[in-house]
Amino acid sequence: NEEILRKPDWLKIRLNTNKNYTGLKKMMREKNLHTVCEEAKCPNIHECWAERRTATFMILGAVCTRACRFCAVKTGLPNELDRDEPNRVAESVKLMNLKHVVITAVARDDLKDAGSNVYAETVKKVREENPYTTIEVLPSDMGGEFENLKTLMDAKPDIMNHNIETVERLTPRVRAKAKYWRTMEFLKRAKEINPEIPTKSSIMVGLGETVEELHQTMDDLRAHDVDILTIGQYLQPSRKHLNVQKYYTPLEFGKLRKVAMEKGFKHCEAGPMVRSSYHADEQVNAAAKA
Ligand code: SF4
Ligand code: SF4
Repeated sequence: NEEILRKPDWLKIRLNTNKNYTGLKKMMREKNLHTVCEEAKCPNIHECWAERRTATFMILGAVCTRACRFCAVKTGLPNELDRDEPNRVAESVKLMNLKHVVITAVARDDLKDAGSNVYAETVKKVREENPYTTIEVLPSDMGGEFENLKTLMDAKPDIMNHNIETVERLTPRVRAKAKYWRTMEFLKRAKEINPEIPTKSSIMVGLGETVEELHQTMDDLRAHDVDILTIGQYLQPSRKHLNVQKYYTPLEFGKLRKVAMEKGFKHCEAGPMVRSSYHADEQVNAAAKA
């Protein structure tokens, strides 16, 4: 019975109905592929697909073994592992002529390798078919097994992104199974396995955290050698999900970004509509130059 906050005007954007990506949507259905862009009804889809040539694929199925309380992905028994998926993702990246691709995956806690082998294979295939496309991976903690992380890192993505999502105090309430310090450790290990690959993480704000807690999370990420940070507004995907506790103003996002840069992140995107994969193409360049 918590109070439902009214959405501020800066979030009431109209979805761009320009149809030049409907062909791409059709292709996704035909190839039985899933994108976060579509499934999460991301408002940036037109800008990302048509203008920036970037997209976020979700592999290893469309059903997750976890049920995080902010996430719109279906929970349940996952589909059988699809060994041809790496080829179809690689082909689609080519057809979409993507400059940057984010490859994320549902958490496959049902599999011993957490799907890391098919994941790594996807990175390799995408690279083979698209040598000029930069590749960002956004895995779950893959069961917290660092061997699975190594399998994925050995495929040499251009960015390793693993989201902390929220501050330490709220983690048990917001995320299912994932743990704050395990996520930190995961990011640190990724950097140790291959220091050349920039690491990245994202925070959703508006879940009831304080500004001090956000600053602390930034410090913790920096202490675990994370290079890139994105900060975006949490939006409730449905009434069953966690309520929004606060809408941050664009000015407040600007302040958070400033603090993040002072704390030593090489790049930070912060804003109401910023998603983990938003403007990711620029982040690769920023991290490479830094
Ligand atoms: Fe897709 Fe991410 Fe762009 Fe949204 S911000 S359309 S999820 S690539
Ligand atoms: Fe969503 Fe990822 Fe949590 Fe699964 S593990 S419910 S895909 S956030």
